[in-house]
Amino acid sequence: MAYLQINSHHFLHNYRAILQALGAHNASKIGIVLKDNAYGHGLKEIAQLAKEAGITTCFVKNTKEALEIAMMFQHITILYPQSLEDTEALQECLKRKNIYFCLSSLEALRLYPKGARIELEVNSGMNRNGIQPQSLKEAFEVICQKGLELVGVFSHNGFGDDFGSEFYAQNHEFLEIKRAVLKLCCHYDLAKPRFHFLSSSGSLRAVKYNDSLPLELQDNLFRIGIAFYGYLCQDSRLCRLDLKPIASLWAKKISTYLLKKGSKIGYSGTSELEEDMLISSYDVGYGDGLFRVREGMELRTKEGLRIYPRASMDCLSIQGDSEELCIFEDVRAWAEAFGTIPYEILAHLHATIPKKIV
Ligand SMILES: *Cc1c(COP(=O)(O)O)cnc(C)c1O
Repeated sequence: MAYLQINSHHFLHNYRAILQALGAHNASKIGIVLKDNAYGHGLKEIAQLAKEAGITTCFVKNTKEALEIAMMFQHITILYPQSLEDTEALQECLKRKNIYFCLSSLEALRLYPKGARIELEVNSGMNRNGIQPQSLKEAFEVICQKGLELVGVFSHNGFGDDFGSEFYAQNHEFLEIKRAVLKLCCHYDLAKPRFHFLSSSGSLRAVKYNDSLPLELQDNLFRIGIAFYGYLCQDSRLCRLDLKPIASLWAKKISTYLLKKGSKIGYSGTSELEEDMLISSYDVGYGDGLFRVREGMELRTKEGLRIYPRASMDCLSIQGDSEELCIFEDVRAWAEAFGTIPYEILAHLHATIPKKIV
């Protein structure tokens, strides 16, 4: 069966590179983003590696993910808001003091039960999620009336990868939000919540700026996702880190043929051989969440062997007759071929693909 190999040494290497870039004094501010099955890598598997590395804070997608790793972290934040829909999982999460719910609207604040530990999302200019800064006072009123426990206030910078001023404008906007939150906490006699704002690329870019702020205005956490998995998608003029992809996809041989020049392979015979060649099929395809390789695409395995279009749902045709091949160990070539980013190639991989930690 095809499997995803997770390299624990690469994970630690990436952690050390991130730590070095953010500074040892910021070690406790590093939170790992484990949402969407740890970007397709396996939630439990990556959670275990993070725990062993000493990371105590993580971010997941929903209640189901939070419960799966509930015993492994001191702080678990559910980033996205479907939590009310599954009442059983919701009750279970509410019982656990280490699980927090992100809320992104005044309506959501009104719907969560008393005592729920929440992190309030505020829009700082990405215009995607979060209440507007003008609504902060109203949000605090609801939080107090309803008896919600305000654990955090956060926002998301949508420009971390891009060379330009928007990134800094958004940093400034979040600073103003933090100032307003501190005033409201004083007014409503609430403890100061933790602040967080930056993902992988933004953290690396703004760590010095954050360090330079007065202590109470600093972000308390960095939400690091893609860098842990070994990628950064920043403009090349920005900070460069030496990261190593942690996942490689391996597949096993199904059948082998010695084919004559001119033979055609697979659906519609899309690939025609230019010489006599050994061709084998391997047991992974778009049914496993891999993108569908089609006409005009030149993708090769790690060993340099051509993957012949078109890919099938459950198999790929590849040159040679090796028992096992590494379909990728760095998804950037796949991302480029499909006009997307490594995140999408990885997050598509099905949770059912077995994981092997090495
Ligand atoms: C996914 C996500 C992150 C992590 O982003 P990376 O670019 O992978 O580091 C951080 N914050 C939020 C809210 C996210 O949804």
